[in-house]
Amino acid sequence: MNTYSVKAFGTDAPQADLKQMYIDRRGITAKDVEIDILYCGVCHSDLHTARNEWRGTVYPNVPGHEIVGRITRVGSDVTRFKAGDLAAVGCMVDSCRECEQCRQGSEQYCEKGNIQTYNGHDKHLNRQTFGGYSERVVVDQDFVLRVPENLDLAATAPLLCAGVTTWSPLRHWKIGPGSKVGVVGIGGLGHMGVKLAKAMGAYVVVITTSPSKTEDARRLGADDVILSTDKAQMKAASASLHFILDCVSAQHDVNAYLRLLKVDGTLALVGAPEHPLPIAAFSLIPARKNFAGSTIGSIAETQEMLDFCGEHNITADIELIKMQDINEAYERLLKGDVKYRFVIDMGSLKQ
Ligand code: NAP
Ligand code: ZN
Ligand code: ZN
Repeated sequence: MNTYSVKAFGTDAPQADLKQMYIDRRGITAKDVEIDILYCGVCHSDLHTARNEWRGTVYPNVPGHEIVGRITRVGSDVTRFKAGDLAAVGCMVDSCRECEQCRQGSEQYCEKGNIQTYNGHDKHLNRQTFGGYSERVVVDQDFVLRVPENLDLAATAPLLCAGVTTWSPLRHWKIGPGSKVGVVGIGGLGHMGVKLAKAMGAYVVVITTSPSKTEDARRLGADDVILSTDKAQMKAASASLHFILDCVSAQHDVNAYLRLLKVDGTLALVGAPEHPLPIAAFSLIPARKNFAGSTIGSIAETQEMLDFCGEHNITADIELIKMQDINEAYERLLKGDVKYRFVIDMGSLKQ
């Protein structure tokens, strides 16, 4: 298969900084779309993967799965897109398309494993996939999304992971008017969870370790705020929530948050810390509580979420950075010091 070289930013080793490098993209096949990347969000998963915190990172690694851009070329069988269209790519670029999950449109739960945008296995080139910290990407049209025309493009990029990863569990657990929802960890995912749960009609409680975010929470749409380091505030909120979306990236005591659930309540983990999270039996048993997990969302759900955000004028709160600032951005991400998502202006890589 023919390939061509594009500029990218990536890393060669877990402890190394990200730096400029060149990677190969496949030439477009009949079903492919080539996208000139304009913006790429910075997800904490990028950092976990670049530093091999989940093990299994294949180097070099080029992260980035919150991609928006403009289509430059399409293959001969592409019907849904044309050159010049805005388009987006999220966390997946393919799946087996044959298993029970794929057939029912839940390809994020593909029984053979969905093919991730980076550090997945590119079946065309038989090597790892490379993500959005790059000039261009080539993706099968079935995994390309349409972007609402009315939204700010840079602030739309984080919807592709942070948006759909919070949207999917909120929909799955039927959040709406009458639901009391807690969102723990107000970073990229958490702040989108607050905005989306509020727009779905829920009563939303922000649960944060950062005093500076308690002031901001109501602006994001929260009805109430709990500073989780304040034991009295946590105690006062015992058994008050139907559902908790846990978006925390680091080790934390899940038991403390499970106490906030009512009988039959569910805590869904979307945050993916490096090490296991211990759970006491009596955090679940006495009130028949559920401890659950959820990964990203399907392509259909991603489009549904993008369209919803277009209708409700919802985007991420972002800090726009240059590609060259990515290592500093990762350090700030580790401190919870971003309101609320870094987005890379990919023009900075092309200069
Ligand atoms: P992020 O922007 O860094 O936000 C994480 C937030 O967690 C921080 O802002 C902070 O919020 C809170 N936090 C950090 N350390 C904490 C600690 N020790 N105790 C309690 N809270 C702490 O990260 P993100 O991009 O939103 O991603 C969050 C997690 O979700 C990551 O692990 C990421 O890999 C994972 N993820 C999972 C999926 C999926 O499909 N399930 C998809 C994308 C990302 P406060 O300041 O409010 O406390
Ligand atoms: Zn992500
Ligand atoms: Zn499958």
